Amino acid sequence: MQLFDVAYGRELLPEIPKIVNAPFLIVSAKDLWPKFEATFADADCHVYLVESLEIVDLERHLTELPHIKAIVGIGGGVAIDVAKYFAWRLNLPLYQCPTSMSVNAPFAQRAAVRDKGILKYVGWAIPEIVYVDYDIVRSAPDFINRSGVGDIVCYYTGHWDWAYAQREGRCEVKWPYDPEWIAAADEVMQSVITNTADIRDVNDRGVRTLMDALRWGGAAFNNTGWNPRPIEGSEHTFFYSLEHLTHRPFLHGQIVSLGVLLMSHLQDNDPDFIKGKLDEMGVAYQPEDMNITWGDVRDGLRHMQDYWKQSGNLWYTIATETPITDGWLDEVEAWVSG
Ligand SMILES: [Zn+2]
Repeated sequence: MQLFDVAYGRELLPEIPKIVNAPFLIVSAKDLWPKFEATFADADCHVYLVESLEIVDLERHLTELPHIKAIVGIGGGVAIDVAKYFAWRLNLPLYQCPTSMSVNAPFAQRAAVRDKGILKYVGWAIPEIVYVDYDIVRSAPDFINRSGVGDIVCYYTGHWDWAYAQREGRCEVKWPYDPEWIAAADEVMQSVITNTADIRDVNDRGVRTLMDALRWGGAAFNNTGWNPRPIEGSEHTFFYSLEHLTHRPFLHGQIVSLGVLLMSHLQDNDPDFIKGKLDEMGVAYQPEDMNITWGDVRDGLRHMQDYWKQSGNLWYTIATETPITDGWLDEVEAWVSG
C-alpha cells in the first residue's frame, strides 16, 4: 500500500517558507487566499489563484509561470488538484495543505481536471508531505468538513453493488469480487462510523480520524490497480448522472452522501442504519442543503440508466438496470425527508 506521508499539528503554514525551496509557487483559491496571505508576506514566493480546471487553460498558464523550484497547494478541492497538476507537469516537489475535509484529493495521485467540461483524473504527483493544520481545517464551515464522510460511507453501497454484480454474473473480468479489498475498505469505514461524535464536533480526534480514512481512500484507486469497486458504487453513478443533467458544481461529499441514502434504499440494504450514522455525524444531505429540489433528484435518478449507457466506462451496479418507478421515488423522498 502506498499512502501519502501526513503530519498533523498547529501553526504549520509559517513553517512552509523555512522548508520549501524558494522561490516557490503557492496554488490557492480566490475566496481562501485572503485568510493566509499575511503569513507569506515576506516569503520568496509567487501566488496562483485557480480560475479554471480546464486542461487547455492550465497548460497555457504553465507557460506563463515565473521561475519556481517547488509547489505548495493551500485550499479545498480545486487548489489541491491544480497544485498536483502543475507539480506533475513541471516535475517539481509538492507540498499540500488542505484547508477542509470535503474530499480525498490531497491523498490521491491523479489530479481531477476538466477536458472541455468532462471530468478527467490525470497525472501522477506524490507530495513530499500533506500538512493538516487542525485550526485551519476547523475554521472551515462544519457542513463542509462533515461532508468529507461521503467518500467513506460510499463503501457501504459500493460493496453491496460489487456483491450484487457477482451474484448476477456481471462483474467485470478485470475486477472480480475480492473479499480482501472489501475487508480492508470496511475497516476504514468502521473507523469513521464508530467515531460519529468526534466527526460531528470536528474536534482534533474527528479531524485525524476522517483525514486518516481519506488518506487510505485517496490512494486506494492506485493501490487496487485502478479498480474503483472497493471504494465507489451506484451512489457515484447517481452523482455523475445528476451533474450531467444540471451542469452545476456540487460539494462532492454532500451529494455522494445523499446518493448513499438513495442507493441503500434501492438496494434494500438496511438504509435506516446508514441514515442513522449520517444523522449522528450531522451530515447535511437534504437536497435543499445543496440548493437543488426533489424534482432535480428524481430527474437524476431517472437518468442513471441512460447515463450508465452513455458513459461506457461505469461498472455494473443497482443503478444500471433497476426500474426507477414513481412509487419508489415517492417512497424514498418521504423516507429521506422524514
Ligand atoms: Zn467520490
